[in-house]
Amino acid sequence: MRIILATSNQGKVKEFQSWISAYEVVAYSDVMPSFEIEETGLTFKENALIKARAVYEKLDTKNDIVLSDDSGISVPLLGGEPGIYSARYAGINANAKENLTKLIAALKDKGVQKTPAFYTAAIALVCAKGEFCVHGWMHGDAIAQERGNNGFGYDPMFIPCGYDQTLGELGESVKKAFSHRARALELAYIVLKSLK
Ligand code: IMP
Repeated sequence: MRIILATSNQGKVKEFQSWISAYEVVAYSDVMPSFEIEETGLTFKENALIKARAVYEKLDTKNDIVLSDDSGISVPLLGGEPGIYSARYAGINANAKENLTKLIAALKDKGVQKTPAFYTAAIALVCAKGEFCVHGWMHGDAIAQERGNNGFGYDPMFIPCGYDQTLGELGESVKKAFSHRARALELAYIVLKSLK
């Protein structure tokens, strides 16, 4: 059984392959022409399922498992923003730096230097046996400044619980050990084993 990722991002393919080494992992764009998948859901779960279903529906043979993830950062002080809009917080074509700058500005607007925040990852699996979705979370604080160059996205402004440094300052090993994606993947792996 192969795992087809509902992404054409080779970085994600590599990341997932290193985590699920017992399976062959391929990008959906390696098995079909790539197409636009609109993320119209209102939750991480809905968006992950929308992407996985869209790819599964286009598969010629239904022997494979389609996996997709949807993730983002939520700041309760901002009513949960940017949440599912994390990738497009500063606009539909915004880059990571613009999104980060906008979130820092939003915290400054509220007059805070530090406030609780959390990352969420939803991982959806769609296959002949049904549809499944699991979640993982990473809690910590968002700060109104940028520190460090590691990681990506909002990592330079996120301090995980139990640490004093941002994910931008900490090494990849912290994220590998207990990021929202790592935790969701642990659960996804249990589901995967039950599908054999
Ligand atoms: P998507 O799951 O590929 O749609 O991307 C979600 C967006 O959430 C990314 O573009 C980042 O802005 C943000 N995000 C998700 N996970 C992380 C993370 O581990 N670090 C930093 N930003 C993240």
